[in-house]
Amino acid sequence: NGTEAKPHIVLLATPGMGHLIPLAELAKLLVTKHGFTATLMTFASTASKTQQAFLSSLPSSISPLSLPAVSLSDLPPDSAIETLMSVEAVRLIPAITSALNELKTRHTVVGFVADLFGADTFDAAHDAGLRAYLFFPTNLLTLSLLLHLPEIDANLTCDFKELSEPVQLPGCVPVPGTEILSPLQDRSKDCYKWMVHHGQKYREAEAILVNSFDEIEPHAAKILRQHEPGRPPVYPIGPLIQTGSTVDKAGGSECLDWLDKQPTNSVLYVSFGSGGTLTKEQMDELAYGLESSGQRFLWVVRSPTDADNASSNYYDAESKKDPFAYLPEGFRERTKERGMVVSSRVPQIKVLAHEATGGYVCHCGWNSTLETVVHGVPIIAWPLFAEQKQNAVLLSKGARIALPLEKRGDGVVEREEIERKVRALMEGEEGKRVRRKVAELKEAAAEGMKEGGAACQALAEVVEMWKKGSG
Ligand code: UDP
Repeated sequence: NGTEAKPHIVLLATPGMGHLIPLAELAKLLVTKHGFTATLMTFASTASKTQQAFLSSLPSSISPLSLPAVSLSDLPPDSAIETLMSVEAVRLIPAITSALNELKTRHTVVGFVADLFGADTFDAAHDAGLRAYLFFPTNLLTLSLLLHLPEIDANLTCDFKELSEPVQLPGCVPVPGTEILSPLQDRSKDCYKWMVHHGQKYREAEAILVNSFDEIEPHAAKILRQHEPGRPPVYPIGPLIQTGSTVDKAGGSECLDWLDKQPTNSVLYVSFGSGGTLTKEQMDELAYGLESSGQRFLWVVRSPTDADNASSNYYDAESKKDPFAYLPEGFRERTKERGMVVSSRVPQIKVLAHEATGGYVCHCGWNSTLETVVHGVPIIAWPLFAEQKQNAVLLSKGARIALPLEKRGDGVVEREEIERKVRALMEGEEGKRVRRKVAELKEAAAEGMKEGGAACQALAEVVEMWKKGSG
C-alpha cells in the first residue's frame, strides 16, 4: 500500500534543548538499534540557531518536523514558561492530528510519544487512531509528584511552601515544600493548574518512558516498576545523554585546550544550564567565593537578571549582553592563572569527560545531572528553577552525590559558603565521599545501558509493545 515497512515512531519535543536532546537520543536508539524510522516534531516558537543546528545533525532516518507557528499573544505577558508550552501544545492539536494522518499514508506509524508538557497532544494521537506514550525527561521523583499531584492538590489547604512537613512520595526522598517544583509554588497561578492537569493526563499514556535509572533512585524505581491499576507502566530507560556531541561543534574548543593544560581532577566546572542566570549580587558572591577558594575553575558566565527571572534565557540559549562586563573589577586578571571564564555555550559533555574536571557547580537540571553521573563527576548543587530544587534534594540527600549550598534568608548564597563548599568538594573528606558514590553510580548507569542491562531491557520491552501494536 505504498507505506514504508519499517516501524515509524513520532516524537514531540516541547521547547527547550533539555527536552529535545534526550528525546532525540531515544529516537537515535530506536533507529540504530531497533530498525525504526522516526519523525521528531518541534514547536516553531523555539526554532533557535542551536536547535536548528542540532536537528540538522541528526541521522537521516530521523526527520525533523517543525510544527506551524501559533500565536500566544493573547496570554498575559508574565505567563510562566510552563503555561506557554502547555497552551502552545493544546493549540497545536489540530496541526499534529493532520501531520500524523499524513505520516500514516507513508509510514507504518506504531506510536506517538510526547514529552512532559505535551500530554494534551495525546488527543491528537487518539484522533489519528494512534497510541500515545509519555517521555519524561527528568527523574522518577518528579514523575511521582506529578502522577500524585491531582490527589495531593485535592487535599492541600495551603501552598507547598507553607507545609510544616516535607512532601513524602512513595519510595522517594522527602522534599521540603519550599523545594518543590517551581511552577507548583503558587496555587493561584495558571502554571500550577497546568501541572495538575498534566498529572491527570499522564494517566492516559499507554506507558511512560523515563530518563532515569534504578540505582540513582532505587526505592522509587522499585515502586514505579510495579504494576499499579490506573497508572501506566513506567520504564526507566536512562541515562540517555547526548551522543556524538553534535551541538556546539564550532565554539568552546578553547576551554578544552585550556583543560588539557590542567592537572587531573583539579578543575571545578561552573554552569547553570542552557538558560540559568544569577542576579548581579549573586554573581559577585560566586566570583569572590571562587577566587578565595584557590581552586581552578571553568565558569560559563551569563549576563545577570532579576531574582525572579532566573530562567530568562530559556527560550534562546545565547546570552544577551557581554556577561564579562558584570564580573567584579579585576576578577579575570586576578584569577587568570587558574580560572577560565567563557560566555558562550561550552561542549559540556566533553568538559565533564575531561580528566582535568574534578567537580561541577551544577544547577541540577536533569540532563546535566545525568551527564555528570555518566562521567563520575561529583556536584555542588545550586538549583535555580523548574524541578532543580527538588533534584538538588534528591542528589544531596537521596543519591548522595552532591554537596548542598546553604542560602541566606533572602536566598543569596554567600561567598564564604561558596568557598567552604568548593574546598570541601575539591579537597575535603566530604568531597571524597560524594566522589566515591558518583563513581558507583557511573558504573551502575553503564551496566544498565549495556546489552541485557536494566535500561536496555526496559526499552526492549517498549519496542516489543510498539512492534506488536503495529501488527
Ligand atoms: N549544555 C551545553 N553547554 C552549555 C550549557 C548546557 O552543552 O554551555 C547542555 C548540557 O550538556 C545539557 C543541556 O544543555 O545537555 C542542559 O540541560 P539541563 O536539563 O541540564 O538543563 P536546562 O538547560 O534544561 O535547564
